[in-house]
Amino acid sequence: MDKKTCTKCGIEKLAHEFKLNRGKLRADCKQCNKEYRTKNKTAILKKKTEYYHSHKKETLKQKIARLEAEIKCLKEQTNNLESEFDYVTTLHPEFPWKRHVAKTGKSQGQEVYNAEMKDACDSWVICVGGSRLLNQ
Ligand SMILES: [Zn+2]
Repeated sequence: MDKKTCTKCGIEKLAHEFKLNRGKLRADCKQCNKEYRTKNKTAILKKKTEYYHSHKKETLKQKIARLEAEIKCLKEQTNNLESEFDYVTTLHPEFPWKRHVAKTGKSQGQEVYNAEMKDACDSWVICVGGSRLLNQ
């Protein structure tokens, strides 16, 4: 049977006393490896936890939660539909926003956006939200 010398304790041991790592025997024997893991349990766990948190993929559920939080935040920022509308129209002045002169109401005599433009704005917000959900 194959024998191997452990790099930690320096004792020559049988192959089955070494753990396999990607098809190859580890340099340290099972005994030494166990001692190492027992001694450094907290440090190893900490490293694993850190690795997990830095490499974990966002699940769809988490993605939705994050985007919902972003939307909530944006809503709080814009506070009402009027300012959201202002934001979108400012962002896309090239869009053929339709306007007319108000005949009645508080904006009488002033140029205002057609009511259906609010729907166009909402559609834009929904489309952008949807594409973000799919692409991010
Ligand atoms: Zn050893």
